[in-house]
Amino acid sequence: MSRASARGQFTVAGCGTVVPEADRSCSAYLLETGNHRFLLDCGPGTVRSLARIGADWAGITDIWISHFHTDHVGDLPGLLFALKWGLLPDRRTLPLTVWGPAGTRQVLEGFAAATGNYVLDPGFEIDVREVPPGAHQPLGGGLELRTIATPHTDESLAVRFDGDGIALAYSGDTGPAVALGQFAAGTQLFVCECSLPDERSLDIHLSPRSAARFAAAASPDMLLLTHVYPQFRAAADVLALVRAAGYAGAAELATEGWTTPLG
Ligand SMILES: [Zn+2]
Repeated sequence: MSRASARGQFTVAGCGTVVPEADRSCSAYLLETGNHRFLLDCGPGTVRSLARIGADWAGITDIWISHFHTDHVGDLPGLLFALKWGLLPDRRTLPLTVWGPAGTRQVLEGFAAATGNYVLDPGFEIDVREVPPGAHQPLGGGLELRTIATPHTDESLAVRFDGDGIALAYSGDTGPAVALGQFAAGTQLFVCECSLPDERSLDIHLSPRSAARFAAAASPDMLLLTHVYPQFRAAADVLALVRAAGYAGAAELATEGWTTPLG
């Protein structure tokens, strides 16, 4: 499908981990639909990488926070500071909604206490919406958001977007003890973490074996493996390992700027 006829667009703004890397920021993905411009996570480096990939950063309507690890939220103050002052001599009037697990407001209040009131009072309307696991939340414009809890931190959520011509799931960070394949079933794009090799697998991250199991169950049009530790990428062909573990569908390894039409 050509970009011109697509209903949406997904772009990787950051696909790194906690490890500093020259060519990728920490977690940040841009989901653009007819009515929403959603930033999924806002890890350190996001503000820079949004410019680097040519994103309409000033037009972001919504932010999704998967969990509160620094590599997923660290650039929130930077982005809000940019939205407050970065459009001078104009001022942003577009409202912003920040979605996330229970505790999202407390995280923003902490950033505000440390760096300034602009975080929660940036001069335009900012709405913080905390959603529980199992949420089924209409977002307007025919788009809806669903969540499931993931075994990573107490608050961690995977998210799925359906409607407005698109179907996408993002694992956030997760361990293998969750029905993530069922949750992501039938999506156009399944963005799935694959942090570590099987021989170093943990109960709070995925490895090729567990990622392949979820991907095979979900059978998405495209699997995008992300949040792969650079030591692992350097030592192994991660895509080949996922295929060898039983996933036969289309798959790619995320890079900064990777983009695909949806819908
Ligand atoms: Zn994490």
